[in-house]
Amino acid sequence: MKITALAGGIGGARFLRGVLAAEPDAEVTVIGNTGDDIWVHGLRVCPDLDTVMYTLGGGISAERGWGREGETFTVKDELADYGVEPTWFGLGDKDIATHLVRTQSMQAGFTLTDITAALCARWQPGVRLIPMTDDRAETNVIVDDPDGAADTAGRPMQIAIHFQEWWIKYRAHIPAHGFVLVGVDNARPAPGVIEAIEQADVVLLPPSNPVVSIGTILQVPGIADALRSTNAPVIGVSPIVGGAPVRGMADACLKAIGLETTALAVAGHYGARSHGGGLIDGWLIDTTDAASVTAIESLGIRCRAVPLMMTDLDATRAMAVQALSLANLT
Ligand code: GDP
Ligand code: CA
Repeated sequence: MKITALAGGIGGARFLRGVLAAEPDAEVTVIGNTGDDIWVHGLRVCPDLDTVMYTLGGGISAERGWGREGETFTVKDELADYGVEPTWFGLGDKDIATHLVRTQSMQAGFTLTDITAALCARWQPGVRLIPMTDDRAETNVIVDDPDGAADTAGRPMQIAIHFQEWWIKYRAHIPAHGFVLVGVDNARPAPGVIEAIEQADVVLLPPSNPVVSIGTILQVPGIADALRSTNAPVIGVSPIVGGAPVRGMADACLKAIGLETTALAVAGHYGARSHGGGLIDGWLIDTTDAASVTAIESLGIRCRAVPLMMTDLDATRAMAVQALSLANLT
């Protein structure tokens, strides 16, 4: 079976672990979000690609959910002692090796697709991990100037800051007026992305952030159209349970684009493929939200309410089995 998944960081990576447990013989291609990528102290950091690679490769910090197990932060502390920003970005010592390899390879002219494959040769994640694009497409967030700058009429100036600054430094506490994916108009899907969607037996949207993970990937020209036209069923898993994100600040992202933080609203946002223009055929929601099944099905989306908390591998595998069953594949 050929499974293709779009993935952000933690939510995507953990779900994929369940997919591999459910279908160990499947050929799994993961299209990773690179909108979060950032230069930190001269190093190219790809947080979502690395979270998928480390999680599936057995190197992730189980406690933090990002970065390496058994990590130390000596370099980060030393840089802070020099007073060099950004002090808020957590670069671990082991992790830095990954970013050094990536940055050097970029400087030697390799694409992110090639570099990701090379890094995965060490981690053996059990999937083919490809970035959504090799081109620049960087998520920026429009906010009122945090330093309080105002125009001549006294209105707050709106500025664009890097997604990571909004997410990590400000913990998404300053309201977002919107998101801009800088460069996306000229970005092309990375080699293999469209083919992976076209040739899949099923396309999965894991419980990743619908706005700044999945939503970002969908903005790369050609990817949403490939989802609309593939013969494979497209099945999503809700990251919203009981009116809140299970982890993180997805509610702040949904609010910024005018959506309620509910499993129903996110299903409606993706929309039904059967109704033309939509992106999904099926949507898994948590048992807590079972009352929304009828409303989601009336949108033209097959829906089932099942436990969606990825508390351990067994629970996560059961979620993957349900997703494949909604696609009529098991
Ligand atoms: P990030 O890039 O590291 O933020 O990770 P993703 O975008 O891949 O996933 C973040 C989303 O995962 C959040 O919106 C969470 O609500 C969701 N999430 C995390 N753990 C769980 C879980 O156990 N169950 C479900 N349904 N969603 C989860
Ligand atoms: Ca992310």
